[in-house]
Amino acid sequence: MFRVLKFGGSSVADATAMSRVLDIVGGELNKGRVVLVSSAISGCTDGLLSCAAGDTSSLDALRERHLAIVRRLFTGGERDSAAKEVLRLFAAMEAAPADEKVTYGELLSTRILARKLECDGLAVHWADSRNLIVKDQLPETYRRIRTALNATEAAVIVAPGFICSDTTGKVCTLGRGGSDYSAALYAAALQAESLQIWTDVPGIMTANPKEVPAARTVPEMSYRAALEMAEHGAKVLYAPTVAPAMEAGIDIEIRNTFAPAGRYTRIAAVADAAPWVGVTSSKEEICLVGSQEADLDAAASQIREALRTAGIAALDVRPEGRNLLVRVREAVVQPALRALHRAFFETRPVREVCLFIAGAGAVGRALVTMVGNTAATVSERTGKALRVAGLADSRHYRIDLGGGVTSLERGVSGDFVDAVIDLAPQGAVFVDCTDSETLYRRYPDLFRAGLNIVSSNRRSLAVPYVEYAALQAAARENGRFFRYETTVGAALPMLESLAIGANSSDEVERIDAVVSCTLNQILSAYGEGPTFASLVRAAQEAGLTEPDPRLDLGGRDALRKLLILAREAGVQLEEQDVDIRPIIPAALFGVPLEDFYRGLEEMEPVFAEAHRQALRAGCHRRFVAFLEKTSAGYRAGIRVQQVPEDHPAYYLKGTENAILIRSAFHPTPIVIQGPGEGARQAAASLLNDILR
Ligand code: ASP
Ligand code: MG
Repeated sequence: MFRVLKFGGSSVADATAMSRVLDIVGGELNKGRVVLVSSAISGCTDGLLSCAAGDTSSLDALRERHLAIVRRLFTGGERDSAAKEVLRLFAAMEAAPADEKVTYGELLSTRILARKLECDGLAVHWADSRNLIVKDQLPETYRRIRTALNATEAAVIVAPGFICSDTTGKVCTLGRGGSDYSAALYAAALQAESLQIWTDVPGIMTANPKEVPAARTVPEMSYRAALEMAEHGAKVLYAPTVAPAMEAGIDIEIRNTFAPAGRYTRIAAVADAAPWVGVTSSKEEICLVGSQEADLDAAASQIREALRTAGIAALDVRPEGRNLLVRVREAVVQPALRALHRAFFETRPVREVCLFIAGAGAVGRALVTMVGNTAATVSERTGKALRVAGLADSRHYRIDLGGGVTSLERGVSGDFVDAVIDLAPQGAVFVDCTDSETLYRRYPDLFRAGLNIVSSNRRSLAVPYVEYAALQAAARENGRFFRYETTVGAALPMLESLAIGANSSDEVERIDAVVSCTLNQILSAYGEGPTFASLVRAAQEAGLTEPDPRLDLGGRDALRKLLILAREAGVQLEEQDVDIRPIIPAALFGVPLEDFYRGLEEMEPVFAEAHRQALRAGCHRRFVAFLEKTSAGYRAGIRVQQVPEDHPAYYLKGTENAILIRSAFHPTPIVIQGPGEGARQAAASLLNDILR
């Protein structure tokens, strides 16, 4: 059984391209015998035609290109004899009558390919298409091909495309682009098991990708649709190719030499998947190719409408068979093609994105609700359909790849991450809204399994720098995204603002950040009313603080945020580099909680005095984390600071956050300020990271 592979001019343009062809042929040889049909190297036919018309200016370059291929593919004696043959063929071409010169391009390319395959140790037979293909004489052509190829046992038959002879025996061609047809004739004659047209685009597309960038491959189409496309200007296939293959019942595959494992088109006896196959153009006529009976009137008005929206006048729209022919001014053919492609082929497919949410606390639950409520808007705006496919707390999880997980009801116990790694489709998003100190160690496994990660868990990022860098590297190496805007300032775009600077090599000079919600709540409420201690207690009871509020007062939470901010700005800050001045004395740290509160009450006069002193200076007290570039590198600290009225943090209320970023490009700071906390804000920020 034979497999027929045809390669176009750009697939054999140079030695590198030819090596690719030989690889593809090698792969096919594992499946059966191969007939390799080739075009002339790209540009060669045009050059030979000019030469026939008396313009020999491209001849030297053409000869040199063939010799260069020979030098690259062969060595030693094989190189010499291949080069000699090239020169012999060129001499014969120059001596040949004008109308025969064009037939030498395919002789040159296929002789080189045949020699190379032989050098590789294969049994090769070079079949002379000039003797085997008789123009317009199918039965005779088939008979000759069968006889010739039955007489050889060679594993590879190499045959020139394009060229043939007429009934008088005179050499001629099958017409421009005719190599495809040659291949179909070989395939039909031999009842080949496969006919592959290898070209430089991924199959037949909904439009010419050079004219319409949004064009996409049609994976499967009927013979009839392929014929219509080819007849109306789709250059990837020479129209006469279809009939012999169809009559012999052989599928045609249109494949891309430059991405052999990529997308391609199979042309076969199938029903087309959609009523419209593609848009093609030739000169000022555009054709919307139809594959089945459709309402042509409706399509015609859709065409007029699409063109009108694009500001293009349709000169004529008329049916032709199942197709619609559209005429526009030649100057606007390209925009018209794009407009029609948009109208008929770009109904944006909605892409499903599965979410696996770890953490079913306030933020996790808010995110689940938000995904449900915003589904329609999100898919409209972004083309993505989000599905909550998994949810977990520290003990249970539930996974349903169909989406629609809204609670942990009927959850099972076990390791959520293991289950996600097992089940998640590529490109899914793992969302960490836990407070886990250890979950981040599984992030690399998740990246490797093809998941992206979005996190609101700042404990995952405020780890030693090497571990932080390893997480980033794991994401990068696996081509996944890792986003965590929510870890600082909830929905405020603090990290993004720093990343913009870092990406543009704008060095940060100074960051001042008020990012501890608890401390701002306490400091901004402090004054004439309740004591400092009772404000801390109220914050704890409201669930605003860590279970032990001293973690907030001691600057632990602000420290984590400062590490994340600094690293986002490209500074490799470590915990021990930060000079933290807690708002309470060291003695209050090691003691039981009630003793701590008693101690805090006793300190009330100290707090009151500090407050009065700030007021006298026209300032407010704020808990500020800063990073500053000095001549000796970066310096970082966290402390209570008096901020004057012209400072953005002066008016911060409650749990609001603010950040000031000064850099070379921004000597007057970028200021971002707003709500620094809240489950809905956090969920909105996670959602934004998921969709960004
Ligand atoms: N070499 C010929 C041409 O350029 C035939 C082909 O490539 O199919 O038209
Ligand atoms: Mg071609």
